[in-house]
Amino acid sequence: MNMNHTLRYVDDHTKGLVSDLQVLIRQPSVSAKNEGLEKCAKLVCNIMKKSGIKSELLRLKKGVPPLVFGEVKSKQNPNKTLLFYNHYDVQPVEPFELWDDKPFSGKIKGNKIFGRGSSDDKGELITRIKAVESYLRTNGDVPCNVKFVVEGEEEIGSEHVELYLKKYRKKFACDAVIWEFGYVDSKNRPIISLGMKGLLYVELSKKESTRDLHSSLAVIIKNPAWRLLEAVKSLRNADGKILIKDWYKEVQSLTKKELQLIESEPFDEIGMKKEYGVKNFVANKKGKAAKQALVAEPTCNIAGFVSGYTEQGAKTVLPGSAFVKIDFRLVPNMDPKKQLARLRSHLKSKGFGDLKMTVYHGEAASKTNISDPFVSQVQESANEIYGKSILSVSSAGTGPMYAFAQVLKSPCVSIGCTHVYARIHSPNEFARLDLIKKTTKCMCRILEKFAKD
Ligand SMILES: [Zn+2]
Repeated sequence: MNMNHTLRYVDDHTKGLVSDLQVLIRQPSVSAKNEGLEKCAKLVCNIMKKSGIKSELLRLKKGVPPLVFGEVKSKQNPNKTLLFYNHYDVQPVEPFELWDDKPFSGKIKGNKIFGRGSSDDKGELITRIKAVESYLRTNGDVPCNVKFVVEGEEEIGSEHVELYLKKYRKKFACDAVIWEFGYVDSKNRPIISLGMKGLLYVELSKKESTRDLHSSLAVIIKNPAWRLLEAVKSLRNADGKILIKDWYKEVQSLTKKELQLIESEPFDEIGMKKEYGVKNFVANKKGKAAKQALVAEPTCNIAGFVSGYTEQGAKTVLPGSAFVKIDFRLVPNMDPKKQLARLRSHLKSKGFGDLKMTVYHGEAASKTNISDPFVSQVQESANEIYGKSILSVSSAGTGPMYAFAQVLKSPCVSIGCTHVYARIHSPNEFARLDLIKKTTKCMCRILEKFAKD
C-alpha cells in the first residue's frame, strides 16, 4: 500500500472533508431533546456510503435511536479488525444567547469551524471516515478490516449501547477500538488516553407546599431548598472528599507505572487557570496532586440547583419545591449499583429519607493496560504525524468504555482532534481545521501500524 498517496489525498481533499462536516453540523441531533436523531443517523450513513464504506442503520427497539454501523473488509489483511467508536448526537445548545453565530451554523472563520458537534463528536467522526476514504481512493483497499459503531445517545449516558453491543456482538467483533474522542493540548500534542471515569447521576427533589408562598411564612412553613442544601452538604467536605460510608472501599491505588506516567504528563496549570478564570483549585491542589485527582479521584459535583425565584431583582418568596442534580464520577473498580445503594443508605441514615431520588444513569469506569501493543502502535502513529504526543492513564471524563472492553474484549484507546479549549458542551464550540487534517492522517497511520504488527 502506498501510504504517501493516502496522506497526500488527505491534503488534497480538505474541502470535501469540511463540507461533509458542515452537513453533519447543520443537522441538529440533540439526544437530550430527541431532536433530529433519525435524520442525522441517515446523513452519517450516506456520508459513509459516499466514502466507499458499507453502512446500515441498526435498531434495538422502538424509541431508541438507531446505531450506524459501517464496515470495509480488507483484501490484503482480512484477519485484523479495527473498530472506530463514535456518536452522532450532540449536547443541547443552551444558553442560546451566548453563541456568536447560530449554534448549528458550521461557519468557518480562519482555521476554525464553529457549531455544536463541530468537535464533539462530528469532527472526530469525520476524520475517521475520511481516513478510510483516503485509503480506498488511493489504494482501492484498507490495511485491515475497519468497522464503525456510531451511536446516538452518548451525550445522555449511552443507555442502550451495551444492549447493542450484546445484540450485535458478532457483527462488531474486532481486535482493538479507537475511542470516540481525544484532546489535543495547548501545545498541539494529542493526548492518548487509556481510560474513562464512570458516572452516577442522580436528582434529589423535595416538595413541601402546594405552591410558592409569601416568604413571611418562613417562620412556620419549611423551606425545601434548605432541606436539600442540608442533604447535599452531608455528601462531601470542602476539600472534595466524599463523606458517604464505604464510598472509596473498592478504589485501587495507582500502580508504580501509572504514577510515573502521571508524573511525566505535562500539565498547563497556569494556562488552565487563565482559560477558566479561576485562581486556585479544590483543596488548593497543585501540580502532581491536581493531575492525579483528574485521573484517579472520584468526584461529587452539583450539576444544577433550582428553587424559588432566580430572575432579576428581589422577590420575597418561599419556594414550594426544590431539586438538585448531582453527578458522581467513579474510578475503576467502583460499581455504580453498589455506590447508588451506599448513597441511598447514607441519605436514610442522615435523616433525609423523605427526599425523592431519580437516577439518571450509572456506568462503570474502564482502563486499558499500558503494556498492550495497541497502545504503542497508536503512540508511534501520533508521534509521526504530530511530532509528539502525551500518554495518559485516564481521561477525567466518562464514556461507555467499560461496556466495549467487556463485551468486545478489545483494548480501547482514545485519540482525536478536539482542542482542549474547543468549548465542547459550551456556546461557540469549534474545531480547528489543521487538527482535523492532522488527525485524519494520524488515523491513516494507526490503521497501517495496527495492520502490520
Ligand atoms: Zn460530549
